[in-house]
Amino acid sequence: MKILVTGGSGFVGTNLIRHLLATTEHSVLNLDKLSYAANPRSLADLVAHPRYRFSQTDITDVSTLRTHFAEFQPDWIIHLAAETHVDRSIDTPATFVQSNVCGTFALLEATRTHFANLGSTARENFRLLHVSTDEVYGSLSPDATAVNTAQAYAPRSPYAASKAAADHLARAWAHTYGLPVIVSTCSNNYGPYQFPEKLIPLALMKALHGEPIPVYGTGENRRDWLHVADHVAALTAILHRGKIGETYHIGSGTELPNIDLVRQLCALLDELRPRSDGVSYAEQIRFVTDRPGHDLRYALDTSQTRDALNWAPRYSLSDGLRQTLQWYLDNLAWWQPLLKHGDALRRLGTTIVP
Ligand code: NAD
Repeated sequence: MKILVTGGSGFVGTNLIRHLLATTEHSVLNLDKLSYAANPRSLADLVAHPRYRFSQTDITDVSTLRTHFAEFQPDWIIHLAAETHVDRSIDTPATFVQSNVCGTFALLEATRTHFANLGSTARENFRLLHVSTDEVYGSLSPDATAVNTAQAYAPRSPYAASKAAADHLARAWAHTYGLPVIVSTCSNNYGPYQFPEKLIPLALMKALHGEPIPVYGTGENRRDWLHVADHVAALTAILHRGKIGETYHIGSGTELPNIDLVRQLCALLDELRPRSDGVSYAEQIRFVTDRPGHDLRYALDTSQTRDALNWAPRYSLSDGLRQTLQWYLDNLAWWQPLLKHGDALRRLGTTIVP
């Protein structure tokens, strides 16, 4: 199969492309504009891979997309490209509307033309996997049951609203134009190659540099945490065995307050890389002013995905966190240069330049 991946140089995309090239015979074309969130080192060792191609492309540019479609003739599309950091969406929402809404619109339009030109066999095999987030459902109360795919959308941050809009576009293009779309909706990912503005790599970076580890509010906001390798396995299962028109929820079922997650992370770090003064990294935790409109909780009912696709996460949170922390400790050369990226990290109050 020829798979066109958008946003393949980001966190999930890097892990997905590495998995596809290592475990399948598929060819991959990665279209990514290389925003601050894309690290060129993530896929640098694959540039000469015979089944991998990269083009620095902004998905809002529909004519360039059409050129890529005509040349590459993809069988499948996995749409990951998006602006993804909620805090940034509060500061600069226009970028989110542009990439997540207009970008998805442009991709759907280019896909529509491509799909219309396919022969009947190719049309039967063709699919567009649109990757979304649990944040589209809005905030749940602590005792609410996990949401299923019939739940109405109630996004509350500019990021969540832009992703919800993109989901609506994708489903409308399926309904109106007959595009074979599948939507996947996933909880919080963690793992290797995540830009260190997101909670886990940020906490690690702050811990290692002896800086305060910031936790929003009282740390009671709850999230479901899934190792990115388990997300990638679910996406691959959906591509191969998923039903056109379906929505698949993906999550670990391991939900905990942010403060518990950060404490767990500090305890692991105490074990893997103890502080020279013997004090626990947990002493560096500081509660900071909460994010405006911070959603309390997300929780997905994933039973349908598990049953229909015979998929289940393989990582427990403790094993996944250990593997992830070890990866960051072993790969300082991947993330330390990012700390020089003033625009990306200044807002986090980072003063360290290694
Ligand atoms: P990321 O921020 O690490 O990477 C996003 C990538 O998209 C970057 O490489 C960026 O350069 C690219 N991009 C952004 N705008 C673009 C544009 N206009 N044109 C081309 N490329 C563009 O994000 P991620 O964590 O890898 O998330 C990927 C997808 O998965 C997103 O759609 C996100 O909403 C979804 N998702 C992520 C998580 C998670 O926890 N990481 C959870 C659920 C869903």
